Amino acid sequence: MPSYVDPTPGVTSCVRCTLSKRRHSVVRGEGPTNARAFVLGEAPGETEDLSGRPFVGKAGRLLRDTLQANGIDPSSVYITNSVKCRPPANRKPTSGELATCNVWLTLELEAVQPDVILLLGQTAIDVLLTRRVYTAGRKTPKITRLYGKMGVEDARQRDDLTYWSSWWRGSRPNDGNHAGELLQDDGPLDSRGSGTSGGTGGGAAVGIRPEGLQVTSKVICAYHPAAALRSPRFMSGFVRDIERLAETLGVKQQADEQHAYRWVHSMEGLDELLACRLNDPQAYTEGLRPLALDTEFDKDGLHCYSVSWKESEGWCVFFSGDSSYKDWARRTLRELVDNSSQVVFHNAKADIPVLQAAGVRVPWEKVQDTIVQAYVLRKAPLGLKDLASNELGLKVIRLEELRDPDVRLADMDQARLAHYSAQDADLTLRLYHKFRKELSEA
Ligand code: SF4
Repeated sequence: MPSYVDPTPGVTSCVRCTLSKRRHSVVRGEGPTNARAFVLGEAPGETEDLSGRPFVGKAGRLLRDTLQANGIDPSSVYITNSVKCRPPANRKPTSGELATCNVWLTLELEAVQPDVILLLGQTAIDVLLTRRVYTAGRKTPKITRLYGKMGVEDARQRDDLTYWSSWWRGSRPNDGNHAGELLQDDGPLDSRGSGTSGGTGGGAAVGIRPEGLQVTSKVICAYHPAAALRSPRFMSGFVRDIERLAETLGVKQQADEQHAYRWVHSMEGLDELLACRLNDPQAYTEGLRPLALDTEFDKDGLHCYSVSWKESEGWCVFFSGDSSYKDWARRTLRELVDNSSQVVFHNAKADIPVLQAAGVRVPWEKVQDTIVQAYVLRKAPLGLKDLASNELGLKVIRLEELRDPDVRLADMDQARLAHYSAQDADLTLRLYHKFRKELSEA
């Protein structure tokens, strides 16, 4: 049963630092105080400042959707920020503001005592793992270097990861003392600080010892969802971090297969996709590879397309946005098609008119169709998911598992839709290669 106790009474009238001057509201933490997972971000943004709730803007929606997609009910998680008031123009909080606001964070951690702490982004990592972490005397490594080293697998394997705890003098907000001041004499955590400590899943342990209380939690360092929205590289890392959280909490079994499915809805993402395709090392030695292409559309037209040219990998490109983004998404697809030996569909008859209506022509001489291959090979039934289950022995996601047929694609959980669509391109590619082999041997 979730329990709700206010861990930070008085925070809404806090004026302990200058961030209080320009805020609309204090954004206190949200979630049950007996939550197993504690998510820590950097600072409220504009939407949060106006609504008074953490992680409710675009990045927050991504966080909540991705938690949900991985079997974690967002309302079962305690979500908060390192500072509770919005810094002007969304600048990073200063170390003084972080240290001052830390009294509230400490109270939240004391109350929740989570099994796992998910640190979103560099600031949260700095705040909780302190400036000296990892090995004595070193500053916290940048997240890009830290990332992966503190993951489930590595933490299990590495004995040399020891995390350091921090002490704050006067952790109570009303004690009249130097609350929130970071003392210099951080000390090493005891043996429970080892990254190999027990419990389900993985992650590294860290101790937080305000005024004698010690809480040992596993810690997962993650990319911030705002960074994930800016770059597909961070997006795939962010999604993996949430999957890791789900595994650590034991709510998700390890997938049978590891997929590298990404989604794109920015021009930078489109550039990265194209660069990845154009720099395909195999193209230099064996020529261009076939490209599997799948579309998701409804009465509003093309919603997204997905491509795959390597098994277990796929990119889903959302086709909604302003006209310059859409134009770029269109051009990217044309270039992908131009730089492919064949373009493989599962039921080209359905996809090609949708692509044409969206302004992308696929030359018929390049088109291959797995439904035709399957027909010639006398396979049945001919649906993509049935073929993938029967021919490849894969567990697949079906669209009806994700949505009611009356729900518009735009109203669906976009993270799950992207995964589903990229999966379809991946399945199409795998079936194409399998059937091609069978046809050549027939
Ligand atoms: S940021 Fe934290 S310490 Fe500063 S005024 Fe807001 S609640 Fe108080």
